[in-house]
Amino acid sequence: MNKNIVVAIDGYSSCGKSTLAKALAKKLHFIYIDSGAMYRAVTLYFLRNNIDLENDAQVKKALEEIDLNFHSRDYNSHILLNGEDVSDEIRQMHISENVSAVSAIKQVREAMVKQQQKMGKSKNIVMDGRDIGTTVFPHAQIKLFMTADPKVRAERRYKELIAKGEEVTLEEIFENLAHRDYLDTTRKESPLTRAEDAIILDNTELTEAEQLNFALDRVVPFLEPA
Ligand code: C5P
Repeated sequence: MNKNIVVAIDGYSSCGKSTLAKALAKKLHFIYIDSGAMYRAVTLYFLRNNIDLENDAQVKKALEEIDLNFHSRDYNSHILLNGEDVSDEIRQMHISENVSAVSAIKQVREAMVKQQQKMGKSKNIVMDGRDIGTTVFPHAQIKLFMTADPKVRAERRYKELIAKGEEVTLEEIFENLAHRDYLDTTRKESPLTRAEDAIILDNTELTEAEQLNFALDRVVPFLEPA
């Protein structure tokens, strides 16, 4: 049977999910899909258009107006919001501060999950996010749940943002991560939780190469012999 392979990578904010997902996709020639980028792009659209999150009709209309596409360049997938490349803007702090509230909205989740399922229908993919192994692809062959020491996560994200020239403090980042984790794990609609069959990967003390090997060891048994 020629069934496509889905690798679902979930976990807390800034655990290195996308770094691992990209490296894995590149190594295996799978398609990489950053589901967080989709929620971030929706958040950007909502902020730009002053969408009232409590107003169902406004949210519905806005979702109908949003067209999201990925443009893959060397596995650094770029996200296009109605044709505009917003990949850099969606990483800024004002988006991080609002994204968990937007992604907790039922209508938003339903729209994104539908698109994500379509993207992974007949292709080999690596998708990272919060509900990939539980809601989007509950039958994924490989599920990883990533975690790391919160201080280490904050320091990693801090370095990334500073390198991009953002003016942020380590405390701000630490609080944002803690707050997002709280909202993401306690929301009503598909909260962040480990799927029963997901393998835990704590990368506090692991190098990127070690994480890649850990994941490859799990995926290789599913690959067809060459
Ligand atoms: O992965 P990233 O940190 O970019 O995700 C940003 C936010 O998008 C998360 O904090 C979460 O609120 C939301 N998200 C989600 N479900 C996903 C991916 C991201 O709710 N599958």
